[in-house]
Amino acid sequence: MTVDLRSDTVTRPTPAMREAMLRAEVGDDVWGDDPTVLELQDALALSAGKEAGLFLPTGTQSNLAALMAHCERGDEYLVGQLAHTYKYEGGGAAVLGSIVPQPIENEPDGSLPLEKLAAAIKHYGPGLGAHFARTRLLALENTFNGQVLPRGYLQAATELAHHRGLATHLDGARVFNAVVAQGSTLAEACEGFDSVSICLSKGLGAPVGSVLVGSKPLIEKAYRWRKVLGGGMRQSGFLAAAGLYALEHHIERLADDHTNAARLAAGLADTPHVTVLGHATNMVFARFPDEHCAPLQAFLNERGLLALITPESRFVTHLDVDAEGIARFINAIKDYFA
Ligand SMILES: *Cc1c(COP(=O)(O)O)cnc(C)c1O
Repeated sequence: MTVDLRSDTVTRPTPAMREAMLRAEVGDDVWGDDPTVLELQDALALSAGKEAGLFLPTGTQSNLAALMAHCERGDEYLVGQLAHTYKYEGGGAAVLGSIVPQPIENEPDGSLPLEKLAAAIKHYGPGLGAHFARTRLLALENTFNGQVLPRGYLQAATELAHHRGLATHLDGARVFNAVVAQGSTLAEACEGFDSVSICLSKGLGAPVGSVLVGSKPLIEKAYRWRKVLGGGMRQSGFLAAAGLYALEHHIERLADDHTNAARLAAGLADTPHVTVLGHATNMVFARFPDEHCAPLQAFLNERGLLALITPESRFVTHLDVDAEGIARFINAIKDYFA
């Protein structure tokens, strides 16, 4: 059996999830006719404490549709230098949305310092202010490299943004990992955010899809942008059914992924030549000596153990990896260095 720690996106639908997909009632969602998509959107909006939801094919498109719903051409958004939205989405906000990113250096815990946020907000208006892009939006990410952002920080940052007339967006690709790790509700984790993008295709184990939640007017705008961006899908209830199944069966078990990541971190910490840089929720970061990276990766791959071994490696646990797989992984790395 392969143990794949490259990402939590590599999961295959379980037999029961496939069964739920097969049985899904579907319609043409571009016409608003797909009952399963509507059910998924409503269910996530309700538990996130928002008015409406929108099912999109990817988290990238969900973030982009949200940014375009919040910002007009020439508006600016504040975002982490290391945020997925800024760094890993091809610059879509600028390329397709005509939105100017204002990156802010992330703290190691993923937060953006309040004083830096405050200083980056431009004063738009007559006179000098006409020089600037209009700062419209603050975008944060939770979890960030697996780390759960402190509730107090999220509250302070979103309050600051709202006080200064900005809207707020959360890239909550893995927000359910935060929910499970801190024992909160989804609504609590989404508090203070005008929109939240949630991935179903990461730790939740669905094959495809993200849901954007927010107010009705905002989701209506995002709905139009989804169509423009090519994300209007037809009988997508087959995919939404996987998401609904995941919401019911795959949330509490994220705690197992967190336990397995802790096991992996402990095992690596106990291995010569390996330095654990950190671990949080379902991620572990570790340093390997340069000269060992390529040979170690080949050694692991030959044994059906998949990971990207770099000087700063990331390992991600998920529902297709169990405690035994983690033990095999640790033992193989120990064998290599022995
Ligand atoms: C995976 C991910 C996304 C969206 O990715 P897609 O592959 O487009 O679904 C967005 N933000 C973060 C933090 C992610 O990890």
